[in-house]
Formats: sequence, structure tokens, C-alpha cells
Amino acid sequence: MKLRAFLSRRVVTPDAVRPAALLVEGDRIHSVVTPDQIPPQTEIHDFGDAAILPGLVDSHVHINDPGRAEWEGFETATRAAAAGGYTMLVDMPLNCLPATTNPAALEAKRAAANGRCRVDWMAWGGVVADNPLDIEPLARAGVPGFKCFLVHPGIDGFTMVTEQQLRTALPHVARTGLPLLAHAELPAPIDAATANLANADWSLYETYVQSRPEEAELSAIRMLLFLCREFKFRLHIVHLSASTALPELRAARSEGLPVSVETCPHYLHLTAEKISKGATLFKCAPPIRSRENCEQLWQGLRDGTIDLVATDHSPCPSEMKRLAEGNFRTAWGGIASLSIALPLMYTEASNRGFSLTDIARWMSEAPANLAGCHSRKGRLAAEYDADFVILDTENEFVVSENRLHYRHPVSPYLGEKLRGVVKATYLRGRKVFSDGQFPGDPTGVEHRH
Ligand SMILES: [Zn+2]
Repeated sequence: MKLRAFLSRRVVTPDAVRPAALLVEGDRIHSVVTPDQIPPQTEIHDFGDAAILPGLVDSHVHINDPGRAEWEGFETATRAAAAGGYTMLVDMPLNCLPATTNPAALEAKRAAANGRCRVDWMAWGGVVADNPLDIEPLARAGVPGFKCFLVHPGIDGFTMVTEQQLRTALPHVARTGLPLLAHAELPAPIDAATANLANADWSLYETYVQSRPEEAELSAIRMLLFLCREFKFRLHIVHLSASTALPELRAARSEGLPVSVETCPHYLHLTAEKISKGATLFKCAPPIRSRENCEQLWQGLRDGTIDLVATDHSPCPSEMKRLAEGNFRTAWGGIASLSIALPLMYTEASNRGFSLTDIARWMSEAPANLAGCHSRKGRLAAEYDADFVILDTENEFVVSENRLHYRHPVSPYLGEKLRGVVKATYLRGRKVFSDGQFPGDPTGVEHRH
């Protein structure tokens, strides 16, 4: 088959950023070569100084389809993903109807996604209060792992699990060999803190932070590490916000426990001090904490305690943010960022001396490892899918509604100036995003584990 060469002075491979060409044959990378090794008569696409990174993999997305496609849906989520440089999304099992807690629900999701995706996708299964017998069938049906909540997930229909219910589920999870992703907050510290805030001013962000103390995350993580030791399953902590948990996570890793950790662009870019009265666009759980906490999370990325950065893209119609009321108690918690996560991360990471190799590891390779698609996704290397993103690192842009591309242009980032413009995204050798346009029909498919 005919080779095409995608050339740049800055190709991001796992060990270096260097001048190179991706030789693409059909939908796969044939090889990564130096520019002088491009065979004669090859069709060359030269991106000059713009970097070529592996297509990003987002292991934490709420697509909410089927059932709540009015919040997002496969068409708009995957469109925003393509615009943001993502080529693989792994969908969370809640907010959709039915929740992905048994094989029939997974089939309903497959039917909803069919022919509507601009990037590839997978679906996590759910571990809830009453489905231990569905865990192994879900694994056989192709999910790459499971998600559970240790606290009410903010919406009914996907039940949280108590320690006792988790103990019933964990032997099944361990037998699959797949990771269990845990929303790590325990209800008791939240309930106790909230009870003391009955008469507080809930238009203040400070009140919301006080209602979800770091202790809720810390105690949940302690319980999960204890269970990890006992049941020997792969544990993944989603959206870590409380940096006080880092020393114990670091110790657990040195002990050899199979635990991985994620945080999100909003915890690495936004800080509580800057959130104004009534600004419910910033509400998410666990909450955005102090500037000092944010820097500690960056330190966790630097020393490897935190493995990856996922968006936790959690969209909703704007009225659910109750902007007129500005009440942090009643507003929906969730921040959507698929289309701008890479510029957010590039802006922050480059200011701290990190390289594009670090970003590719956090946002592509490590999430691909977690979702078990790492033999095809997450690297620019021979035999991998020809998934890549062209990033112009020299230019800035202001976040505006027409750059978001997801269903409801609700965002705490509007008006911010960010560095790094996604110029184009390629999925299995085909251009799926280019300068604000989405060429061609949707060609994204599901990867089954
Ligand atoms: Zn989430």
C-alpha cells in the first residue's frame, strides 16, 4: 500500500521530541524515520515547527448517551474530542440511561454510538450496589474495566457502594484482572461538614470547599488501599484533588500495590482563591482547592505519583448550572473541557518546564495503558494506529464558545488566553479535524477489550 509521510521538526515519541517523519500505511504507522529516510515518491505532509503528538486518549468522559443525549451525546462529545486532539474516549457508565452496569446496557450504548463518532471510543462498566454477578459478564462483553462511587454520584440511577458492597464485588473484579476506577470520597466527612454549614452562604465558593473536605478523599483512599492489599485488584483513583493524599499514594506504590492515579486539567489550572461569588461554572466534585494544593498536584505529576491527566468532561445544559441563583449547593457539579484540555495543559506545563513528552505520557500513553488499548493507541511507533495531533505551540488563542464544539458551550474557561492551538487531528490516518472543520463522515469505532 502507498506510504504517506507526516513530517515535523518536533515529533513526540516516548523518549524524545525530534525531527522525524511518521510513515503511514493505510490506517497504521508503518515506521517513524528521520527526515532523510523518507522513501522517494512518498506523498509528504510537512508541518514544519508544529509538533506532532500521539492522538490523546481520555480515560474519563461522560458522554451521557443513550438516555441523556440532551446533555451531550456521541456526536458532539466526539466532535469536541477531535477538535481537542483526542482520538480515543473512554465513557463513564453513569448519567446515561440505562447505566452501563450489565451487558444489555452495554449493547444499548453500542447501538447509540453506531455511526455517530468522530473518534474511537470504549465504555467502562459500572460496579454498583446490586450488580456483582454482572461484573464478569461485562468483562467478557468487552469493557476495559469498572467504575464505582463511594459517595452519591450527584444523580440517582447509579448507586454508590458501601465498603460491604465493595467487598462482595471485589473478588469478581479481581478475577477479571481489569482495573477498578474509584470516585474516592467517603460520605461521612462530607455529611458532617455539610451539617455545620446549614446557615452558611452557599453563594460563596468557600462554603462549597468546606462541605467537601480533603478528609473525605483521604479516608476513601485509605480504605481503597486497604482493600487493594486484601483483594489484589488493580486500583485506579480518578480525579484526585486532595494533595494531602499524595504521601500515602506514594508509599502504596513503593510497597508495590497495583494503584494508579489521575488528576484533571481543572485541578491543575484553576484555584479556589480566584473563584468568585456565585460562579457555579467552577463547581465539580471533588472541589478545586487552593493554589498551594494545585502546586502539590503538579509535584505529584513531576515525581510520578500521579500517572495521568484525564478531563472528567462532565457536560450539562446551562440551566443546570443555575447561574442566575449562583448557589453552589444546588448547581450541577461538572466541568466540560474536551476541546481545550491540551492547550490548558500545554500552557501550565510549559510554564513549569515540562516537555511535550511529559504531556504525551500523561494524556495519551498512560490513559491507554489504563484502558488496555495500549497495543494500538498512546504512542507514535510502528504498528500503532495512525492517530496523531498537530499542535502549534507558538500561538495563543482566547477561549470562545465557537471553540468548544460540545453540545452546550458552558465553561469556566471562556475568555481565558491559552497557548497551543490544535491545528489538525488524524484518526487512523484520516483527518477528522482541521482548522475548525470536521471533514468527512464519522469513522470512529468502538475498541473492545
Ligand atoms: Zn467523572
